[in-house]
Amino acid sequence: MTALEDWDDGPFRPEAVTVRVPAKINLSLSVGPLRVDGYHELVTVFHAVSLYDEVIARAARGLSLTVEPLRRDSDVGGVPEDERNLAWRAALLLAEHAGVEPDVRLTVRKDIPVAGGMAGGSADAAAALVACDHLWGTGLRRDELHDLAGRLGSDVPFALHGGTAIGTGRGEHISPVLAAAGMEWVIAVMDGGLSTPKVFEACDLLRSRDGVTPDAPQVHPDLMSTLRSGDAELIGAALYNDLQPAAVELMPEIGELLDLGTAAGAAGALVSGSGPTTVFLVDGPVSAAEVEEQLRTSGLCRAVRRARGPVPGAQVSNVR
Ligand code: ATP
Repeated sequence: MTALEDWDDGPFRPEAVTVRVPAKINLSLSVGPLRVDGYHELVTVFHAVSLYDEVIARAARGLSLTVEPLRRDSDVGGVPEDERNLAWRAALLLAEHAGVEPDVRLTVRKDIPVAGGMAGGSADAAAALVACDHLWGTGLRRDELHDLAGRLGSDVPFALHGGTAIGTGRGEHISPVLAAAGMEWVIAVMDGGLSTPKVFEACDLLRSRDGVTPDAPQVHPDLMSTLRSGDAELIGAALYNDLQPAAVELMPEIGELLDLGTAAGAAGALVSGSGPTTVFLVDGPVSAAEVEEQLRTSGLCRAVRRARGPVPGAQVSNVR
């Protein structure tokens, strides 16, 4: 055997691939009437922020998954380590689509708050798709990955995409939005989560109690133009979330936090998605420190974090 033949043992197969994936917040969330299929038509502006989970895919026999905290203060309570985990389902779906065995050991390292309205599970699914695609050398096109992502859940395509984008349908149809770079956020993470279906249910109840018939969902043109301007005060005033009253009704501390952050000088304050995480847009480091301090000392939340946006979606950060 020549030296060359000795070397030529097929394409490089990595042992381990790490993918970093951001959390999302919704700069606007407009919720239409309840549809006959039980879902609501949504129009939302997704925004990816620098609060990350990591998914490591390692070569293995069979499929297994473990969940661990990424930082000392990250909470992973209640996240399943079996086929109920969205990252597990993503690996299976990709294997089936590509016609390969689902041989992978997944480690999901979480920092995105669980059940926090920041689409952490969806982010992990997107990360698992990208990591396994790399590990197995399946080399799917971007549009194929996007299609698989949409089958896993309505927030998964955006976690692949990142940046700032309008989501329509149930959120799965994505179109990029021109937005200024470098928005700064202070994020209040609550103890415990809110169930997304329960928040939608509460929203429907509040609407029927108040005799409100919602219009078709839409993005306010104000928000689109202010996003391009990058002016924190203007953007802050244009943020909105139709689910906010329902989230506040279910967890009144959310309302108190929103008031605190606003009084501390945040340019904008809102519930992220279905909550209970609240996010505060700040105009520079002095304002960020003031808002952070007020939230931290309130005793109403578990942790306070800073993040910036927009950031890119799921990306390979290490290969070995
Ligand atoms: P969304 O805003 O997309 O509705 P969320 O951010 O409020 O979701 P997630 O953190 O995605 O909530 O988790 C919701 C539930 O999904 C959790 O309680 C957990 O049982 C389940 N789950 C499945 N896979 C994951 C995962 N990889 N990470 C977190 N939760 C997961």
